[in-house]
Amino acid sequence: MNIYDEKNNEIVIDRRCDVCGESVMLEVNDNDMKLDECGELSAKWGYAPSEDGSAYHLDLCHDCFKFALSTLRDKRRSLAIVNKEIDLPGEDFGRIGGHAPKSK
Ligand SMILES: [Zn+2]
Repeated sequence: MNIYDEKNNEIVIDRRCDVCGESVMLEVNDNDMKLDECGELSAKWGYAPSEDGSAYHLDLCHDCFKFALSTLRDKRRSLAIVNKEIDLPGEDFGRIGGHAPKSK
């Protein structure tokens, strides 16, 4: 969610995770420059019977995004156990670019 300046409601001064409320703005250097690093979960449903015309959007911090991703990976794993046509998800489930996460 965007947090707007009280005096000028068109200026976004912060962006926060819709789940935990943490800011997703990262300070860059020492010159008050901030960049948002935010995961997003969104959907627009057209004619699905229970969601006719509904739209959703959530801004997610890194931790909440990883939680959602883990939950979806677990669901895929459980589906793959009962349906052999579905591949087991790897650690790169959902990744479309960048470097693999460091192992802990
Ligand atoms: Zn969060």
